[in-house]
Amino acid sequence: MKGTIAALVKRAVEVLQDIPVNDPVKEARLLVSHAAGIRPDRLTLELREDATEEQAAALEALLARRQAREPVSHMLGKRAFYNHEFIVTADTLDPRPETEILVSLALGTRFSNVLDMGTGTGAIILSLLAETPNAKGVATDLSSAALTVAVQNAETLEVTNRLSLLESDWYTEVTGTFDLIVSNPPYIALNEMPSLAPELSYEPRMALTDEADGLTAYRKIAAGAPAHLNTDGWLMVEIGWQQGPDVAALFEDAGLINVAIKPDLDGRDRVVIGQKA
Ligand code: GLN
Repeated sequence: MKGTIAALVKRAVEVLQDIPVNDPVKEARLLVSHAAGIRPDRLTLELREDATEEQAAALEALLARRQAREPVSHMLGKRAFYNHEFIVTADTLDPRPETEILVSLALGTRFSNVLDMGTGTGAIILSLLAETPNAKGVATDLSSAALTVAVQNAETLEVTNRLSLLESDWYTEVTGTFDLIVSNPPYIALNEMPSLAPELSYEPRMALTDEADGLTAYRKIAAGAPAHLNTDGWLMVEIGWQQGPDVAALFEDAGLINVAIKPDLDGRDRVVIGQKA
């Protein structure tokens, strides 16, 4: 197949439309950029150039993987989140746009140190540290493979000197107290797993589900929060859109005050917050 870079984009859009994916044009441009070795922001300038056989073949290989519903982020090895790009692998949950609301809410508080449990790529805590030059952080994960990815991302964002990484089952290995605790824990209930988009089967199962009712992590995170928060410190967690009342009740049972459920940009409940009295 011989043609221009524009022809590759057209081919990709056609394949992606048939899968179908949410934003075929955006994905097509990302995949063609990657296959052709062209920076995404330069793609438009290169559209009239001839594509080589190698570029066309590389694109076909990526499209076949996408037809098998592998996420684009896994093919690119990275994903944009908040103000940065993060390395992602099959060992980490993909940073998602709806999680940016948690970062925004957290940045609305004053903190000199922050704990992020189940950090994955580190997208949440690294975004917070990058925006807050004097703050320090502790990031935990049960997966050492995920922590390896988080370290690489910390290096890219140049915050390694302000971050400690701990292999820990929620608070188990955590010492000290914090002005802010954040988490996007596994919250998908076991009975919801079969109805997820096929792309999620490429992500670590332990980052998605507690294999139970979806609330296991919140019970532990809420119960341990008072002992790990400074006075006036905030706990903020991402939730599934139907979990607001249950998680808010757990926060209140733990004695947190100013408990509130916050929506994301689509208007769906996405974050629960609470403060230590
Ligand atoms: N937000 C993810 C999803 O619904 C779930 C991530 C999680 O369980 N923390 O795809």
